[in-house]
Formats: sequence, structure tokens, C-alpha cells
Amino acid sequence: MYYPEPISKLIDSFTKLPGIGPKTAVRLAFFVLNMKEDDVMEFAQSLVNAKRELTHCSVCGHITDQDPCLICQDSTRDVSVICVVQDPKDVIAMEKMKEYHGKYHVLHGAISPMDGIGPEDINVPSLLNRLKDEEVKELILATNPTIEGEATAMYISRLIKPSGVRTTRIAHGLPVGGDLEYADEVTLSKALEGRREL
Ligand SMILES: [Zn+2]
Repeated sequence: MYYPEPISKLIDSFTKLPGIGPKTAVRLAFFVLNMKEDDVMEFAQSLVNAKRELTHCSVCGHITDQDPCLICQDSTRDVSVICVVQDPKDVIAMEKMKEYHGKYHVLHGAISPMDGIGPEDINVPSLLNRLKDEEVKELILATNPTIEGEATAMYISRLIKPSGVRTTRIAHGLPVGGDLEYADEVTLSKALEGRREL
């Protein structure tokens, strides 16, 4: 089907988003054409700003517009516990629960030999540095309950063992194969409460 170039470009852009198939992309593109120009400008600007102004916290790897992030700066939080997650979205899921008051470390992925992703490709080296400098007593491994997430938790646990820092794994009230970010607050809270020693 023929579309004028600006529209086909817009359709292509929407197709790059997760969960958007070709039909939905066409529908969204035409929706944008019917939006008020001011609203379109604001939308475009927020896309650009989110990308430009957000960076990764140099301490924990969470997305932030100031470095270190607000969680790392917060002196009321418990510095003796670090919760290790795969994705910034997992930090947001944990924070929504309002029951965890320690710090975080975001790996930005998981070890996956099948995809050629090793420990050096995710945010593990900075975690080791933190264990040297900070007064950490427990590392809660809250990677996803997938093969990759489990492998990552095991790897980190073995790596940390000699340092004497306690490593625990969140319990599996979480659905196997499910992502942390999709767990509801009660399930997540139970998973955290029922964590076991590794
Ligand atoms: Zn941080």
C-alpha cells in the first residue's frame, strides 16, 4: 500500500516499539495526524527529553536525571542491603511495594551464554566495587525467575561467597518465567519476605 513518505516513516517508527504490530502502527500514525499540533510537539519533546536527560546512576545503574540517583543519595535508606535486579523497571516495581528500604543495583540484563552475554557484559564489575567500599551485609538477588535470571543469581552468589556478604534469593511466589516488573505488590512482598540463603 502506498503512503506519503512522512506517514510511512512514522509507521516505521511505531513498528519499532514493543507490542506494536503493523496494523496498530498504521492506526497510531493516523491518530497522530489527527492530533492538535501542540499536543504532537509536546509528545515529540517528551520523547527527546526522556532520552537526553536520563542517564544511568554511576553507583547503582538505575535510570536517573541526577547522578547519583535519589535512592543512592537517600541517607535514610539501609546501606547494609542491596537488592540486585535486572532492569530499572524492577526497581520501580519494588519501590511501589513500599516495603523495601535498602539500596539497589541494576544489572541491565542477565547472563545468557546462548546469546553470548557474559558477566562482563552486564553491570557486575561495579557491584563488586560497591561491596569493597560500602557496608553491605546482604545481597538480595532479585533477578527474574527465568533460566538466565537463575544463572545470573547463582553466578553472583558464587562470586560473592568468599567476601562473607550474605546472599539471598527472592522466593518463588513469582510465576516461573515471569518478570519481576509484572508481579503484583503482594506477590512481590511475599517473594521478598520468603527469600532464602544461597
Ligand atoms: Zn543510584
